[in-house]
Amino acid sequence: MNLDSPLTSIKGVGTELAAKYKTLGLETVADLINHLPSRYEDYSNVLEIKNIKPGSVTIKAVIKQVSGRYVRRGLHITEAVASDDSSSVKLVWFNQPYRAGSFKAQTEYFISGQFELGNRSFSIMNPSMELVSDFPINTARIVPIYRLTKGLTSFQIRKSLREVLPVIRQVPETLPQWLLSEEGLSPRSEALESIHFPLNQEDLDKAKQRLGFEEVFSLSLASLLNKYENDSESTITIPFNEEAAKKFVGELPFKLTDAQRKVIWKICLDLARGIPMNRIVEGDVGSGKTVVATMAALMVVVAGYQVAIMAPTELLARQHYETLQSLLKPLGLDKGVGLLVGGQKTLARSQILESIASGDTKFIIGTHALIQEKVDMKNLALVIIDEQHRFGVEQRKTLMAKAGHMPHVLSLTATPIPRSLALTLYGELDLSLLDTKPEGRKPIITKIVSPNSIAQTYEEVKKQLDMGKQMFVVCPVINESTRSAKSVNQVYDELRQKYFKEYRVGLLHGKMPGAEKNDIMKKFVDHEIDILVSTTVVEVGVDVPNATVMLIESADNYGLAQIHQLRGRVGRDGSQGYCYLVLSSSAAPTKRLRALESNDDGFKLAEIDLALRGPGAIYGAVQHGSLDLRIAQLSDLGLINSARKAAEQFIYNKESLLKYTELAKTVNVLRSITNLN
Ligand code: ADP
Ligand code: MG
Repeated sequence: MNLDSPLTSIKGVGTELAAKYKTLGLETVADLINHLPSRYEDYSNVLEIKNIKPGSVTIKAVIKQVSGRYVRRGLHITEAVASDDSSSVKLVWFNQPYRAGSFKAQTEYFISGQFELGNRSFSIMNPSMELVSDFPINTARIVPIYRLTKGLTSFQIRKSLREVLPVIRQVPETLPQWLLSEEGLSPRSEALESIHFPLNQEDLDKAKQRLGFEEVFSLSLASLLNKYENDSESTITIPFNEEAAKKFVGELPFKLTDAQRKVIWKICLDLARGIPMNRIVEGDVGSGKTVVATMAALMVVVAGYQVAIMAPTELLARQHYETLQSLLKPLGLDKGVGLLVGGQKTLARSQILESIASGDTKFIIGTHALIQEKVDMKNLALVIIDEQHRFGVEQRKTLMAKAGHMPHVLSLTATPIPRSLALTLYGELDLSLLDTKPEGRKPIITKIVSPNSIAQTYEEVKKQLDMGKQMFVVCPVINESTRSAKSVNQVYDELRQKYFKEYRVGLLHGKMPGAEKNDIMKKFVDHEIDILVSTTVVEVGVDVPNATVMLIESADNYGLAQIHQLRGRVGRDGSQGYCYLVLSSSAAPTKRLRALESNDDGFKLAEIDLALRGPGAIYGAVQHGSLDLRIAQLSDLGLINSARKAAEQFIYNKESLLKYTELAKTVNVLRSITNLN
């Protein structure tokens, strides 16, 4: 048996079990070894029965008085008494009738499970047990819990892994030796053994450290290699056009912030280098990313080329279309702005397609339609991607192939990530932060509301509506409400039929046909609707300046960044905005939600989320392609930073990947995932 052997070569794995493994994507011994635990239960502390307390416990005892019975149809209970020299305790299993016949008398077992109040008395519920040995698998150690599929148990996985232990010990090394000694990391084989069979907590932490390091190191290396490749390409040079820039800035209805000026200047330098720009601008909601993007687009168009601007939703694309037209009107360039989205009529569509192909349309604004269909562009030089994390990598690649050469790429994102993390996640992109907001913005007044006092909140809100303002109500799910999440349909009915009878209430969710969505949104923008009840389709970018209230139902279902983006939708005309976070139960609000009440800065909130939930929370928010940083999620920022630096060192040392076969395999896969070209 070796790493490439099929799983059926493992003792105890027949075709039936192998089929179950296959549904988890596991086919070879190597796959099984790389199927890492999703969590652990610490059953390592073997106690005398007289000393056990409620919670996870392990005892070493003999079994007596076993009995099994059906309490009612479909519910079988097995009970037994376990005794050691100190005392006795009851064991209870549900629906495991085979248990009763499986005990040897007068024999010591390790028994691990939850000691808790069960059927009227304290018992160890559904315990695992096995004969006392030096190498227990399911008890008396830190027990790994694996991701499962129907009919497969963690027991079976642990047993299979026990059989392949000799192979785990031969897993080849992936990282360079100098790196292992420099960073004090254990060899890969040792780390894998400890991940599946941890000796103690320290041993487990060390293994996670090692595997997490490798994950971030490989990712950083992949990004850096992509970046170097990108920098060796040449592309169209877009010179800085001072006259157009001055005219554009002069016609703006406001003064650019220093942050906007700096970022615009960086972009102009990038465009003029003759090397494809690959920059991401990270700026909180309302930081003014659209003007920055428009300036970049302007430089490209006055140089005689086209620019494609992609938005995540049709609503947003339409809004950008209008914004760009009005920003470019004073320069007489608004006629060159075109919109291509799914919901257009056939005639309008063919006209716009023709105008894109002829080059008359210079600013091409659209959604996925821009890449999913055959769109001929005359001379595309710049691609702007708004909210880049909402686009799949494959989609980006397709768009870039359309240009026939590598276009400049500018990504905009409102998901604020601390710089150190952004450098890892967006390693191959140059990063610019729009870290100051335009002056005079009032922070949104944010209040946490218990469901008991919702009626009172509605009364408060009516004051805004009666002043002619509008309100968003956002719900987490479309159809069925659950205990912790109200559905958009339920809330819509409640508001319309009970609390807000005398107001115009509209409904919007992602499953509605596109035309209907646009229609409702247009009605809201035109103030033919006072209250828009919706799912998070409004999350990114939609601009309804007259809306001053954002009410979020079951707010505990959302991440900080998401709520922060949502509330950025209101108070955009300079009026005071309000955000109500309605809890799903009357339990006390979490620290995280409370942070939103006192904080209005997206970057600051990201740091708080990072401190409270760890980097995993942020990785979740950016959904970096199909990457799955399972171990690094559990690790700390320090590790992420040192792994990234090590990757820089690797390149600086001019190390060749060819020397490291295993590493090269991973890095090449990652390069294609993270590759934006
Ligand atoms: P986002 O970064 O969320 O995309 P937008 O580009 O939509 O933000 O800008 C939000 C609002 O701020 C818009 O109405 C825009 O016109 C306005 N704005 C942008 N820059 C400035 C500025 N320097 N001063 C005042 N208002 C600005
Ligand atoms: Mg925007």
